[in-house]
Amino acid sequence: MTSADDMLAVAVEEARTGLAEGGIPIGAALFDGDGRLLGRGHNRRVQDDDASMHAEISAFRNAGRQRSYRGTTMVTTLSPCWYCSGLVRQFGISNVLIGEATTFHGGHDWLAENGVGVTVVEDPALVEMMTTFIAASPELWYEDIGQD
Ligand SMILES: [Zn+2]
Repeated sequence: MTSADDMLAVAVEEARTGLAEGGIPIGAALFDGDGRLLGRGHNRRVQDDDASMHAEISAFRNAGRQRSYRGTTMVTTLSPCWYCSGLVRQFGISNVLIGEATTFHGGHDWLAENGVGVTVVEDPALVEMMTTFIAASPELWYEDIGQD
């Protein structure tokens, strides 16, 4: 069994990789019910010139096709947007582990209301990373969250 801290560490590593690539520092990873890593990825909006390649989508796609998503946990460094929250509901992912929801409050309340197990860590180091990124690249950030 992989601890929440260990699972989050994989997503954080992805976020830092994304930042080092010049992208938006959001990372994610999908684990099965036994804590086995199925897939990991990071936001690739800049790298792939693809607005749809959010961290959770990247991790989900890298996990390949799964027969069932029951018992799985989507780990993400940042509260999932509506699009990624929709992915969680669409495929019946059971749990979402969120690094922080301070810099962005996505759809995790909606997920919790609909039976998804939601844990928000509020890791100060992640809040700091996003705050620094938003201050340095506001145009990229507001593009990513779809605000003018
Ligand atoms: Zn998203």
